[in-house]
Amino acid sequence: MSDNVRVRYAPSPTGNPHIGNIRTAMFNWLFARRHDGQFIVRVEDTDQGRITEGAVDHILDGLEWLGIDWDEGPRVGGPYGPYFQSERLERYNAAAEQLVASGKAYRCYCTPERVAELRKEQARNKQRQGYDSHCRFLTGEEREEKESQGLSWVVRFAMPQSGVTSVEDVIRGHVEWQNELTDDFVLVKSDGFPTYHMAVVVDDHAMDISHVLRAEEWLPSTPRHVQLFRALDLPMPRFGHLPMILGSDRAKLSKRHGATSLMEYRDDGFVPEALINFMALLGWSLDGETDVMTVDTIREHFTLERVGKPAAIFDLDKLQWMNGMYLRQLDVSDLADRIRPFLESAYPADLLPIDREYLLRITPLVQERIKTLAEAPEMLSYFFDDTLEYDPDSLVQRGMDTPSTMALLRRAADDLGKVDPADFGHEHLEGLLRATGQELELSGRQFFGALRTAITGRTATPPLFEMMEVMGAERVTQRLAAAVANLSSH
Ligand code: GLU
Repeated sequence: MSDNVRVRYAPSPTGNPHIGNIRTAMFNWLFARRHDGQFIVRVEDTDQGRITEGAVDHILDGLEWLGIDWDEGPRVGGPYGPYFQSERLERYNAAAEQLVASGKAYRCYCTPERVAELRKEQARNKQRQGYDSHCRFLTGEEREEKESQGLSWVVRFAMPQSGVTSVEDVIRGHVEWQNELTDDFVLVKSDGFPTYHMAVVVDDHAMDISHVLRAEEWLPSTPRHVQLFRALDLPMPRFGHLPMILGSDRAKLSKRHGATSLMEYRDDGFVPEALINFMALLGWSLDGETDVMTVDTIREHFTLERVGKPAAIFDLDKLQWMNGMYLRQLDVSDLADRIRPFLESAYPADLLPIDREYLLRITPLVQERIKTLAEAPEMLSYFFDDTLEYDPDSLVQRGMDTPSTMALLRRAADDLGKVDPADFGHEHLEGLLRATGQELELSGRQFFGALRTAITGRTATPPLFEMMEVMGAERVTQRLAAAVANLSSH
């Protein structure tokens, strides 16, 4: 094991990566960057039945999207490759043979039916379930007999049957397990593929991994790995198990808590800056208080000492709040550029292409309110789509009727039509229309309420005069005329 920090993220390509999964990747990455070490991605694809098409790309694209770069692994290569376990089978077989030759592992000829029957019986008798080491104690003759019958076999590890196995976990401290509680687990399956336990130990050594930082769900596998390292006579990496992530009801995190795959967060309009900040706080803290930090700050201060043991709570409201905060901090042009693809994929072709200049003028009007980019198409639709859908009655404000509303809309259109395009700024418009409102003896609520509905179809919008300025005289007067037409045909 080198003194240098070398850590790995070892995803199984079985689907879209989840937040817990990516949190593991990120903590490894932060640890490597903090210590000027290497961050390695290794694809654990030996469970052929569970692999899903495209999963590796989803995982790698997700890391790239977040700005998590890796020093070795798929797409970049490296001196310890290949980085796909399915391309490293001979290494696992060699290790398994070495263990069998030294008596630390053995071929087991039990049929899957026998093993299943055994488990059932153990369950009936309320005994601990596991393999009963039957083939471990076959005589030489019995073994030859099985071989000559050409029976298929798996390789099992001869687990010590007494004593304890312990580790000093860098996060959890001293942890120990009774060996008798771990059965003789499989190292090589009947199809010749290694199990996770075999492959992970061989590769963590072969890739010179200094620290195995992974989710707490792997803690129970650790005594197996420790025993395997010993049996193979290999130096041991340090182990650190990251705290679990629970929903706000303290139940295991699931879709129900709004936790989805990484790419769904992207599609839901979350920005990488917010997700990085949010995920960093799932188990780590800077000082127990500070919530909002840039990735640079996190990278500079990340230590395993500040990773806690207690489960982290996933709070979707907090993520949403944080996302809104990051959106508010962006430059207008950056925010506009991030909003644009959401509009492009949501709007019909006749509203496209989106005019960049126009979008740049709209963006500041919503920057304070927007929480996710995915809200933009709905939030901004009336800036682009001239066919507003609203109930004409909603134009008629309290204390008014249809004729007086039509009159006020006509008058406003008339006033605005006379404004020199160079003067179509919000201050000028406000002065002009306030005067008209007074002249018509209307309250602000009545006059501006009717105008707002006519121009946007809605009651809650950004400031009226600023919107008018951005939309321009032509669009605004057309909408006022359309509102009048709506009321007259009503
Ligand atoms: N392939 C395992 C996973 O998908 C990796 C476990 C480990 O890091 O040892 O989580």
